[in-house]
Amino acid sequence: MSDYDVIVIGGGIGGLTSASLLSKRGLRVLVVEQNSSAGGLCNSILKNGYNFDIAASLFWGFGHGEVFHWLFSEFNILNDLLERESIIRKIEPGLQVILPNHRINIYSERNRFYEELKREFPSDMANLIKFYQESDKIEDEIYYLLNKDHFYSLKNHYTHENKRLKKLYTAISIFLKRKKDILHLADKWVNPSEIKSFIDLQLIYFTHKKSADIPLPISSIILGIPKRGIYGIKGGARILTNTLEKQLIKYGGKITCNSTAEEIILKGSKAYGVKVREGNSVSELKSDWVISDTTFSNIEGSLIKKKRKKNQFSKINKKIGNGLVPFSVLLGVDEKVIPELMGEHAIMLRDYELPASDSNIIFISASPGWDETRAPHGKRCITATYFLSQDEASKINWETERENKTKEMVDSLEQLIPFISEFIDCAYSITPDDYQRMTLRKNGMLRSFNNQSGFYGFNSPSSKTPVKKLFMVGDEVFPGSGAAHTAKSGIRAAEEILKRI
Ligand SMILES: Cc1cc2nc3c(=O)[nH]c(=O)nc-3n(C[C@H](O)[C@H](O)[C@H](O)COP(=O)(O)OP(=O)(O)OC[C@H]3O[C@@H](n4cnc5c(N)ncnc54)[C@H](O)[C@@H]3O)c2cc1C
Repeated sequence: MSDYDVIVIGGGIGGLTSASLLSKRGLRVLVVEQNSSAGGLCNSILKNGYNFDIAASLFWGFGHGEVFHWLFSEFNILNDLLERESIIRKIEPGLQVILPNHRINIYSERNRFYEELKREFPSDMANLIKFYQESDKIEDEIYYLLNKDHFYSLKNHYTHENKRLKKLYTAISIFLKRKKDILHLADKWVNPSEIKSFIDLQLIYFTHKKSADIPLPISSIILGIPKRGIYGIKGGARILTNTLEKQLIKYGGKITCNSTAEEIILKGSKAYGVKVREGNSVSELKSDWVISDTTFSNIEGSLIKKKRKKNQFSKINKKIGNGLVPFSVLLGVDEKVIPELMGEHAIMLRDYELPASDSNIIFISASPGWDETRAPHGKRCITATYFLSQDEASKINWETERENKTKEMVDSLEQLIPFISEFIDCAYSITPDDYQRMTLRKNGMLRSFNNQSGFYGFNSPSSKTPVKKLFMVGDEVFPGSGAAHTAKSGIRAAEEILKRI
C-alpha cells in the first residue's frame, strides 16, 4: 500500500500546478519542498517592510483560453482573482523597452502600440508595422493550431504528443528558418540597427535569446505575448503560488516545507517513492507516481542512483546545455524618485555602447502604485536583474563582490532613474549562490532556452522521463521558461497521470 498516490518533489509553480490539479481530482498528493516556503522562483521575500519578488514579477497567460485563465477557472476562483478582488490586473504598458535614444511602451492593443512606433521611429513606422503584422499573422496561425483541440481541457489538450501537429510545426519552423529568421523578416521591412535592437531586447526579455537564434514561429509567439496581455499580481509573485497551495490543501493534499527529496526510489524501471530528509530524520515514502519539479542536473546528480537510468538523464542534461545565471538587486526606494513615465517592467542596456546581449541587459521591475501591500506608504520596491553565462559567473567571488556588484547595478539604474542612489531606503542582493540555496538549481541557473539550436518548443524535453511513473515539470521541459509556460508543464504531467489511472 503506498503512502500517497503522487509525491511531487518541489513546490515551484510547476509542481504546485500538478499537485493542486491532481488533488482536486481526488488523488492523495504530497508536495515536498526543501525551502522554508513554497514558490521557488515565483516567491517573494519580506524585508524591512518591503515585499520583494525574488524572480518572476511579470506574468502572462490570464487571457481567455490561456493557461492561468484555464487553471483558475478549474478551481472556480478566476472571477475572484481577476474581477471581484482585482488581485490580478492587466497592466499597461506591459513592458517598456529603453534604448539610448528611445523609450517604447509595448501596449497590448496593437494600434496604441503602433502610435508608439510612430512617435519613436517616424520614418520607419510604416514598414515596422508591416513587420509586426506579418509576425502577428504567423503567431495567430500557430496559436490557432495549438488551441484548436481545447488546449486546456484535461481530457484532450496537449498537442506536444500530437505527431501530425509536431510534424507540421517542425516543417514550418525549418522552412521559415531556412528562408528567413525574424531578422531577415525585419530586413525586408526595416533597417536601422536600433530597430533590430528593439526587437532583440523583447526576445531576450522572454527567452534570453536573440532573434538570430530563435526559429521564426517562436519569435512570433514571443512578440505576441504583450498583445495577449501582461499582468501584475497584488501582493507579488508568491500570491500566485500561495493560491495554488491553498487549492492543494482545500482538496486534501499536503505540503511539507523544509523537507528535501534525497532520492527517487526505483523498483525495477519504475518510480516507487521518494526518500525525504527533514532535519536529521530520513523517511522512505511510497507513492504510485512521482513528479519532479527539479532540474535534469539534480535528477542526474543525486536523485536517481541507478546507473543505467542516471546515464539516460545525463544524455538529456547534456543536450540541454548550459544556461544563464541570475544576479538581482532589490531596492526599497522613495516613490518620488521614480520617473512619471517609467512603466512597471522595463528592459534596458547596461552599457549603451555595447550591443544587446544577456549580460548587457538589465531587467527592471517596480512594484505598482496600486499595490499598497508591496512597500511602506510612499515607497516602492525595485528589482533589477542581469544574467551571466556560467563561465562569466564562475569567475566572480559573489560573497566578496556582493557590495560592488550591487553598487554597479545602482549606477546602471541611474540611466533610467536619475538620482536613485539618493533615495534608497534599503538594498539587498540575490547572488547565484543565494538562488541556488533557495531553489537547489545549480547557481540558480535557468536553462529553458538553451544553446542547442532547434531544441525549442516541440523539440524540448517532454514531461515523460526514462523512468516509468516519474514525470518532470518545470521550466526545463516543454513548453519552457516563465510562470505560464511552467504551469503548462504542470498541467501536462497531471494529465499524463490522470490518463493512466
Ligand atoms: C531572476 C529571474 C526573473 C524571472 N522573471 C520572470 C518573470 O518576470 N515572469 C515569468 O513568467 N518568469 C520569470 N522567470 C522565470 C520563472 O520564474 C521560472 O521559469 C519558473 O518560476 C520556474 O518554476 P519551476 O517550478 O520550474 O521551478 P522553481 O521555481 O525553481 O521551483 C522548484 C522548487 O523545487 C524545490 N526543490 C528543488 N529540488 C528539491 C528537492 N530535492 N527536494 C525538495 N524540494 C526541491 C525548490 O526549492 C523550488 O521551490 C524569472 C526567472 C529568474 C531567475
